[in-house]
Amino acid sequence: MNKELINNNPIEFAVDIISHDKNTKENGVLKCVQCGMCTSTCPAARHSSYNPRDIIERVLNGDEAILEEEDIWNCFYCYTCHSVCPVGNSVCEVNQILKQNAISKGIAYEKLYDYLGFADSYFNAAIGAIPEAFFEDIKDDVDGWWEFRQDLVNIRNKLNLGPLFPSEDVIDEVSIILTNTGFKSRMDEIRKSQEDKI
Ligand code: SF4
Ligand code: SF4
Repeated sequence: MNKELINNNPIEFAVDIISHDKNTKENGVLKCVQCGMCTSTCPAARHSSYNPRDIIERVLNGDEAILEEEDIWNCFYCYTCHSVCPVGNSVCEVNQILKQNAISKGIAYEKLYDYLGFADSYFNAAIGAIPEAFFEDIKDDVDGWWEFRQDLVNIRNKLNLGPLFPSEDVIDEVSIILTNTGFKSRMDEIRKSQEDKI
């Protein structure tokens, strides 16, 4: 594991995370007592080398090399750690901030490229839809999923759930928001970075 202290005041890394808009747990990172409750309940830790307690320890050590590591991408935001932490920390939110910092530094674009289909569906349809690239895997893993998906419009009609997609004006509004907030330009940048390699 690479360790890199940012300077003589490693706590600055944690303070930077605490001041991020996504952080709702006031000073939670600084209160971590390294009890390991987050790790013992984390599904990602159960199935990989990912360790939420270790994430916080490294943040408190000012170890910015963590932004370059595979492990932070194993967290899938289930918020279990967030709900069990005895001092009100949220490794889930810390991970979101770490990933944002990594993306801002141009790290891990190759990981995000595979998921651009999700971003496309937000931009083009104003909903989060499973990208076609994952269809075959889901068909193999989930019996009846494909048939259910193909019949979704009929099922919704029978249940009086209304149309699956938002109206055109809603889609246009969401597209404008995603453009003006920089989401679209980031999508384009990630796509270009990987397609230029082909
Ligand atoms: S549960 Fe909270 S206090 Fe315990 S190690 Fe995890 S983040 Fe730290
Ligand atoms: S949000 Fe992430 S770190 Fe927290 S329990 Fe879920 S997978 Fe683990």
